[in-house]
Amino acid sequence: MAKVLKGKEVADKIKAGMKLSIEELKKEGRTPLLTIVRLGNNAGDVSYEKSIVKACEAAGIKSRVIERETTMTTEKLEGLMQELNADSEVSGILLFRPLPKHIDEERIRTSVSPDKDVDCMHPLNLERIFEGRMDGFSPCTPKAAVEILVHNQVPLEGRNVVVVNRSMVVGKPLVMMLLEKNATVTICHSRTKNLKELCSKADVVVTALGKAKFFTEDFFNDDSIVIDVGVSMSEDGKLSGDVDYDSVAEKVSMITPVPGGVGSVTTTILLNQVVLAELKK
Ligand code: NAP
Repeated sequence: MAKVLKGKEVADKIKAGMKLSIEELKKEGRTPLLTIVRLGNNAGDVSYEKSIVKACEAAGIKSRVIERETTMTTEKLEGLMQELNADSEVSGILLFRPLPKHIDEERIRTSVSPDKDVDCMHPLNLERIFEGRMDGFSPCTPKAAVEILVHNQVPLEGRNVVVVNRSMVVGKPLVMMLLEKNATVTICHSRTKNLKELCSKADVVVTALGKAKFFTEDFFNDDSIVIDVGVSMSEDGKLSGDVDYDSVAEKVSMITPVPGGVGSVTTTILLNQVVLAELKK
């Protein structure tokens, strides 16, 4: 039976460090403030927003939600970003994406101040990751996956890691973070021909497909370490990861659960970046 890599342990450790920083800021009369910008009422965004607001409250971080119509123009959204950049009270900005199709996402990504870009959408912050500089803001999900591996002392140097995802929010930045840890990384996607073989030969497999229970036990070996980033609904209407957890956990050496794994660290990483943004002001 695999060791279960619970996200809570990792999140609690990050929260402990964050608490000290928040106390220090308080002595100077400062409280970090996260501003969330949401266009429309996408159920997934609203639910994620609620959990962030709740987590902010629990951590002693102020939060503010700005809700706008999906019909908002690029110019208006750009103007809003500039207002928030200029607002000295705002420490960090989180804009829910994907944006409506008519909005010029490239223009919006560059309109947020890199110093308030706690979700790492500005090309300058992403560029830092691709240059191997990990001291700035990171995309929260890949950072959460790496923090789980580091917290559980999974050796990465020289190990073979397969990442099944090539998106800019998960796979590509994750590959850069793993390279920084001197892992040998293989990136897989929907056109990869021998996925099962590549996964089964790897030391660590990170899955982020969004297809419930896609990865069955024959994708892994007895020593596999499995980090499941995917979140979707399985046929029985329950939240599920990409991995067929019950059977795979019987076989591999370590595995993250869904829920309770990567997702439970992601929000804490975001909050930590809000505190860092306030500290750097
Ligand atoms: P995405 O852009 O749709 O990426 C999915 C990736 O999976 C793509 O690279 C795609 O390949 C690949 N893929 C799809 N089917 C495949 C197959 N049969 N074999 C191999 N590769 C395949 O999604 P995303 O935004 O990166 O998110 C991925 C998952 O992570 C989703 O379940 C999302 O809910 C979850 N997520 C979790 C968190 C968290 O905090 N836990 C945060 C963000 C996202 P192509 O590039 O060839 O299409």
